Amino acid sequence: MHRMSFALINPATEERIAELEEAGVEQTDEAVARARAAFEGWRNVAPTDRARLLRRLATLVEEHLEELARIESQNVGKPIGGARAEVGMVAQVFHFYAGAVDKHYGETIPVGGGVDLTFREPLGVVGLIVPWNFPLNIASWKLGPALACGNTVVLKPAELTPLSALRLAELILDAGIPEGVVNVVVGPGRIVGQRLVEHPDVAKIGFTGSTEVGRGVMAGAAATIKRVTLELGGKSANVVFADADLEQAAAAAPYAVFDNAGQDCCARSRILVERSAYDRFGQLLIDATRNVKVGDPQDEATEMGPLISAQHRETVASFVNGEPLFRGETPLGKGFWFPCTLVEASNDDRIAREEVFGPVAALIPFADEADAIRIANDTPYGLSGSIWTENGARALRVARALDAGVLSVNSNSSVRPSTPFGGVKQSGFGRELGMHALDGYSEVKNVFVAT
Ligand code: NDP
Repeated sequence: MHRMSFALINPATEERIAELEEAGVEQTDEAVARARAAFEGWRNVAPTDRARLLRRLATLVEEHLEELARIESQNVGKPIGGARAEVGMVAQVFHFYAGAVDKHYGETIPVGGGVDLTFREPLGVVGLIVPWNFPLNIASWKLGPALACGNTVVLKPAELTPLSALRLAELILDAGIPEGVVNVVVGPGRIVGQRLVEHPDVAKIGFTGSTEVGRGVMAGAAATIKRVTLELGGKSANVVFADADLEQAAAAAPYAVFDNAGQDCCARSRILVERSAYDRFGQLLIDATRNVKVGDPQDEATEMGPLISAQHRETVASFVNGEPLFRGETPLGKGFWFPCTLVEASNDDRIAREEVFGPVAALIPFADEADAIRIANDTPYGLSGSIWTENGARALRVARALDAGVLSVNSNSSVRPSTPFGGVKQSGFGRELGMHALDGYSEVKNVFVAT
């Protein structure tokens, strides 16, 4: 039965923070019609003006950073420090794409009998479907290039976490971006999302979410030959060689899994350790994990908050059977808490094969470099990963051999506004961020002029 209104819950306190009306097919169609009506105007805004509007939006996000970070923290249960960093990145993403507007253009190609030239053209109305784990951040990764290329947008945030997108929509208007260019529709994925996927006037779906839903988006898009970009799940490896700086690797490893309470598609949730360093690294990792500060997201010192919902906590708990290698502490009382958990596993275990999307890491030993590569690639996913070694040639060799879209060496960090992000295998296809994302939101038109 279709609900008319629904409540949003703060996952750290279980308190209601808002009540919203739920959109359905009719509101989705209305939003698409508005986006379509705004398209001709927006695509014809002079590039320098479009850049100026995006720049103004970036500045407005900076000016409202604290407010947006508080909204995100309360709605998702994120530590406030992390939420601020995410909103900071949103501003950087809009700055980047403001700068990119007039640097993405066609070419002239030498041919006989005339002149051949290409144009970069917008696609039209694009549907952007985003998940609850990094609501505003992931929305900006799609909005930036979509708007820079001259598309208009219908944005569907996850129903659990729509508040930051709704506030951003107001800032978009305050920036002077015309009405209808960005439309936010809040409603369930299986109704609003699916309608966007099916709608004949939507040219492309930019989707981030689970591999399972992504599969349905891809199938649904076939009926209208829609373009799709899919950023899906992951089961990434953190590969630690015995020749690494083990202290540094162990100090960083918890944050590669437990950031955002493990609700991160890039989580390096399989920690692969060379057998000769396994015991020592395991002890260092336990010590470092014990230090992760779990608690009230509003506390400046907090590093990990609760999971998004009670239901999600049940799913995460189902992955941990028996006594783990290490289980951390959580606050008592209200909130959807789950402790940092380390489990010794083999790569065939469920915990090493499926995405947990919670603060649970599997520790897996390997024999040598070839074994590490084999285990790391033995997964249907291919999103991210890290390699820890002091041997530069090995770092490059292993980076070349791993099936992943985004890797880091001696670091957990793999997401920046200017560098491409996305997966291989069942983690999806298409690239977000950097100049690469512009290819996913534009079409190349080729014109031959006989001379
Ligand atoms: P879901 O796939 O369930 O949802 C993602 C989005 O799709 C939500 O907005 C959801 O709406 C919508 N949706 C749900 N059903 C449909 C449908 N039938 N048609 C169209 N849209 C639909 O993922 P979660 O929100 O649970 O997020 C967690 C998952 O996302 C994890 O598996 C994670 O790995 C992945 N993820 C991947 C990232 C990447 O970049 N590769 C980044 C972040 C997350 P609603 O929730 O409102 O129903």
